[in-house]
Amino acid sequence: MIVFPVENHRNREDGSLVYPVHSRRSGGLSIGINLFPDKKVCSFDCPYCEIFPFATTAQFDLETMKDELTRTVNNARHRAIPIQDICFSGNGEPTLSPHFEKALEAVRDIQKKTVPGAKLVAITCGAGLLRDEIFSCLQNAAVSYGLDVWLKLDAGDEAWYRVINRSAIPFDKLIAKIKEFVSVCPATLQTMLCSIGGALPSGVEDAAWNDLALELAKTGNVRQFQLYGKARPSAEDPFAEAAPASYLEKRAKTLEETLACGGVEVPVSIYT
Ligand code: SF4
Repeated sequence: MIVFPVENHRNREDGSLVYPVHSRRSGGLSIGINLFPDKKVCSFDCPYCEIFPFATTAQFDLETMKDELTRTVNNARHRAIPIQDICFSGNGEPTLSPHFEKALEAVRDIQKKTVPGAKLVAITCGAGLLRDEIFSCLQNAAVSYGLDVWLKLDAGDEAWYRVINRSAIPFDKLIAKIKEFVSVCPATLQTMLCSIGGALPSGVEDAAWNDLALELAKTGNVRQFQLYGKARPSAEDPFAEAAPASYLEKRAKTLEETLACGGVEVPVSIYT
């Protein structure tokens, strides 16, 4: 079911494949594509994750997704609501879905025909980059028609990665793939800044993250750094807690200084 007017956020457990939301990061209407209507699928287990445990009998179906997307786009246009982007996000890591490549192709087709001005976005934790076919798929889409890949980069060192992402993927392996990807392909880097178990990242972690951010920025392929705070409830609250806005501002300033010292200019945005 497509719900208009658009709410600030959606009910993730309602089994929808397509959902319009007001996105703080897009600054307007974002149409989300959810490849996992039945349950959360992700290689990360972030304590701040907004997806509460759930299970439905809904199944992903490409034709249904195409119909819903077309109707949602038409509804928004009928109401003269500008669509900022169409975004692969949903209940987990989209690149883990066996339908990802076909769905991307279909969404691109609809976007090109109906809202060519809207951005196409894929939000990823980077796990898919470990598979050559997904690496190539994202790279080709980014280079050939401007898919904006929003890559998660929460941690600069293994210690914080284990706390904030809790993934079985080795940190070094994942970071090596992220570096490889950003060296050949434009990407937006997203970082969640919050406290976990009452602790913010250590000074050592901050420094490691800044160094990593600079190294990636030096490729010339980082479109933007997005630093975001915890704004919505998660299943493990209050284990993960929002950091003060002043902390996000301090981290953004330090990053800007690091980039400037390294002779690189990349926009840094904060979403509290
Ligand atoms: S990567 Fe995203 S979907 Fe996966 S656990 Fe973390 S916040 Fe949740």
